[in-house]
Amino acid sequence: MGIVKEVGSEVSRLKVGDRVVVPFIVGCGHCRNCESGYSAFCTEVNPGFAGGAYGYVAMGPYMGGQAEYLRVPFAFFNALSLPPGNANETDFALLADISRRGGTASA
Ligand SMILES: [Zn+2]
Repeated sequence: MGIVKEVGSEVSRLKVGDRVVVPFIVGCGHCRNCESGYSAFCTEVNPGFAGGAYGYVAMGPYMGGQAEYLRVPFAFFNALSLPPGNANETDFALLADISRRGGTASA
């Protein structure tokens, strides 16, 4: 979880100051698997392997996500916007591990 400090030129859905949660799985958001809700098996973020993730061997060039600052590739897809304020932070932290947009996790 964190607060957006910068956005790239192609990012329009997020702005500086937004609260976000970033799942440890990295997806592109536009391949067939991502569009079908199976972003853990993204075919674009880790060539030659189905899926990418922060901090895992063979899961792409994404260093660990537990850092003070994190560059979020494909942020339009991987950074999930949270409502303003600081309510329910513990609940939102769980989204980083088990859920994706359109995923199958339930509360
Ligand atoms: Zn994908």
